[in-house]
Amino acid sequence: MSGGPLRTVYGVPQAVLDDTRSFLRERGLEGCEGTALWVGRPGPSDGEVDITRVFVPEQVCLKTPDGVAVRLTEEAHYTLTDHLEVGERFYCRVHSHPKEAYHSETDDANAVITHQGAISVVVPFFARKPLRLKGCAVYRLEHGRGWLPLAEAEIARTFGVRP
Ligand SMILES: [Zn+2]
Repeated sequence: MSGGPLRTVYGVPQAVLDDTRSFLRERGLEGCEGTALWVGRPGPSDGEVDITRVFVPEQVCLKTPDGVAVRLTEEAHYTLTDHLEVGERFYCRVHSHPKEAYHSETDDANAVITHQGAISVVVPFFARKPLRLKGCAVYRLEHGRGWLPLAEAEIARTFGVRP
């Protein structure tokens, strides 16, 4: 295996992008950020993961004078893995922002998925446009270094969108 979990390539069906966008868009129309998780399984070759579906955990929308945020309910946190079948795993967290996409301090501290190589995608403008990963801010968790942003070329190498 070359490079371990930090070199994983994710196959993402277009339907997963579409489902994720519909959910985030719906939340956005109510002025709320949304969080979705991408579920997948190891792919046919080493270093490949097939994303298979979107899971939407129970969450609350927070609106404060400083802006909006989204948080999973405590119940959702503790029962997340109950929603996985054998062999499945949560690989990516995808959440929306009202404006620009970037990792806030809250996002850095967020402990929904924490494995080496975990991916966090931030979708700008409440997903008002069809979801394209190139237009998002994408971060990868390197233990000991934190959530590191991926450059556009790295985003293109990391995801393969499938029809
Ligand atoms: Zn955020």
